[in-house]
Amino acid sequence: QLELYASLKGTPTVTRDGVPLTMMLNAGLLIDLPNLDETGAEGIGLYRTELPFMARPSLPDVAAQTALYSRILDAAAGRPVVFRTLDVGSDKVLPYWHGDPEENPAMGWRSIRITLDRPAILRQQIRALVRASAGRELRIMFPMIAEVAELLQARALLQREIDEHVASGGVPPIAQRVGTMLEVPALLWQLPQLLRYVDFISVGSNDLLQFLFASDRGNQRVTDRYDSLSAPVLTMIKSLAEQCSAAGVTLSVCGEMAGRPLEALALAAMGVRTLSMAAAGIGPVKAALLSANLAEIRAYLLPLLDSPDRTVRRKLRAFALDHGV
Ligand code: PEP
Ligand code: MG
Repeated sequence: QLELYASLKGTPTVTRDGVPLTMMLNAGLLIDLPNLDETGAEGIGLYRTELPFMARPSLPDVAAQTALYSRILDAAAGRPVVFRTLDVGSDKVLPYWHGDPEENPAMGWRSIRITLDRPAILRQQIRALVRASAGRELRIMFPMIAEVAELLQARALLQREIDEHVASGGVPPIAQRVGTMLEVPALLWQLPQLLRYVDFISVGSNDLLQFLFASDRGNQRVTDRYDSLSAPVLTMIKSLAEQCSAAGVTLSVCGEMAGRPLEALALAAMGVRTLSMAAAGIGPVKAALLSANLAEIRAYLLPLLDSPDRTVRRKLRAFALDHGV
C-alpha cells in the first residue's frame, strides 16, 4: 500500500468521472514541512499557528513569529499556505497563559474570542504574517468565528496592519485571501452575509460536529453517539457546498474527517473540492478518489440522506467495495 501511495505522489487527484480535487496538508510545526514534498500535497490547507506557541516557554515576539512564518513560506516554495490565527484555549493550552478555570472550556473563552478581546496578541501575529508575506500571497483564516461581526473585526485588524506596514515603507503581500473556519453551527445560518466577506471557508469538522451533536470531541464515552458519516452531516455539507459554489467561495474541509477515505468520498460527492488533512491521510484518500465515480456515489448517497437510521457508513462502505474503490 505504501508503495502505491508513494507512486501516486505526482498524480493529480482527478476522479474517474473527471472531477479534480485539491489535496492539502495540515501542519503546525517545522518538522511537518518535509511532508509537503513527501506526500505531493498542493499546499498547506491548515497551518495551526498555536502549535509553535505551545512548544515555547513564552509568547513569541513579532520578530520570532516573522522568522517562523517566513521559513514556512520558503519551504512551501510558492505552494499556498493557509495560516490560521492563534487557536488556543479548550484542549490547546499555552504553558505561560493562565486563564481562569472554566466549566465548559470548549465553549468558553478560547480562540478568536481571546484574540479579539486581547487584540495586541492578534495584531502582533498578523503583523508577523504580513511581514513574512511581503511580495508573496498571504492566506489567513480565523478560527471559532460564530458571527459575521467577529470576522469583520478580525478583517479590520488585518487591514490596519497592512496599511501600517505599507505606510512604514514595507512591501505588501501581492495578494491576500481571507477566510474563516466553520466550527460554530450558528455560522451555517449566516452564510448569505458571511459569503460576501470571505474568499474561502474551511470546515473544522472536529469542533463543528462536537457542537452540532452536543458531544464532546475528547470524551470517549460519547464518541459513538454520532457518526460523521451520517445524514445530518452530509445534508449540512451539501447545502454548504451549494451556497459556497453559487457565491464563488472556495469550500474546504480540514477537520480529521477529511483524512479518512470513506468520509472524503462522501464529502467530495456532496460537492467539496478541497480537502486538507494530516500527512498520513493523503495517500489513502487520493487512492480512493482516483478510483471513484463521484456522480455514482452521489446518486447512491442522496436517497440515503432520507433514511432515519444509521446505515450510511455501512452502506457506503459496501458500495465502495462493490465498485472497486
Ligand atoms: C477542527 O476543529 O476541525 C479543526 C481543524 O481545528 P482543531 O482540530 O485544531 O480544533
Ligand atoms: Mg477547531
